[in-house]
Amino acid sequence: MIEIDNVSKWYGDFNVLKHCTTSVTKGEVVVVCGPSGSGKSTLIKTVNGLEEFQEGDIRVDGTALKDKSTNLPKLRSRVGMVFQHFELFPHLKITENLCLGQMKVLGRDRETAMKKATALLERVGLEAHAHKFPGQLSGGQQQRVAIARALCMDPIVMLFDEPTSALDPEMVNEVLDVMVELAREGMTMMVVTHEMGFARKVANRVIFMDRGEIVEDATKDDFFGKPRSERAQQFLSKIL
Ligand code: ATP
Ligand code: MG
Repeated sequence: MIEIDNVSKWYGDFNVLKHCTTSVTKGEVVVVCGPSGSGKSTLIKTVNGLEEFQEGDIRVDGTALKDKSTNLPKLRSRVGMVFQHFELFPHLKITENLCLGQMKVLGRDRETAMKKATALLERVGLEAHAHKFPGQLSGGQQQRVAIARALCMDPIVMLFDEPTSALDPEMVNEVLDVMVELAREGMTMMVVTHEMGFARKVANRVIFMDRGEIVEDATKDDFFGKPRSERAQQFLSKIL
């Protein structure tokens, strides 16, 4: 579903991604972790074309991002992305937040979009809040809306960048629960997170990054059982 093939990226002369190679197959959940500044966000943003890269190749569902004939906006509309900060449109009610992309990008009529929005709001347990504005919801609720909004676009894969790290601790689980359910339903997911409980529950693989490199790319059991690299061992000993 996602193939990252020898990708390198520079910001000026700073080499932020170094020969990164990995893949995420259909239905797989891959957790990306590593120290601050190691390139996790940059890697995940290159996957949906939010960041350019100078070397290597990325293919999403078989389509190469670098191919000149690739319709990047169209491809991007099929890749759901949820960030640390919820990035809902503050001046739009929750339902409008959920309908906008469906109508503008996918060309759905209002009725169809609304049906989908209602179904997904129910799924994240927020149907009672449909007519509120984002500012009237808690952080955890806003993040669940952000997930529902991404799902409204029928994504073929979901990317998450530290979706719970800006939340108060008591709200972390309500968001993780939604993500766990999504994973169990078979959604293909690439998730930057330090929530190792989540990783243990649903990850198929764990990628550990350090200084722009993918240092470790292992099955969950191998990663938690016996990380090969010293850097991953040190990292784990700090956060577990
Ligand atoms: P964190 O855990 O703090 O979110 P991260 O692993 O997501 O870190 P990135 O945000 O990918 O790290 O950043 C990797 C490196 O690239 C950092 O050293 C950062 O300072 C640098 N960087 C990120 N964006 C830019 C930019 N636009 N211009 C220059 N350097 C950047
Ligand atoms: Mg980051």
